[in-house]
Amino acid sequence: MFQVSNVKIVHDLPTGIDGWRIRMGNGKDWELMIVRPEKFKCPRCWSYTADKEDGLCGRCFDVIEYMPETLEERLQEQSSEQ
Ligand SMILES: [Zn+2]
Repeated sequence: MFQVSNVKIVHDLPTGIDGWRIRMGNGKDWELMIVRPEKFKCPRCWSYTADKEDGLCGRCFDVIEYMPETLEERLQEQSSEQ
């Protein structure tokens, strides 16, 4: 439904934050506000869930940490065994 990093449904829109406010329908039923993400873009999965700039998100950090050795390392081991 939304191609955004996060959706929050609230009764009152926050004030003092830069963003686009869009009134839906006659403007009395509901409003939409689009703001910049609170977190940073993960360079691996491109989702805005990283805690720091150029840092991996928690999910990608776990994947990288527990990833088996790279193909290049495996090929070097094979060639040294021969
Ligand atoms: Zn990630």
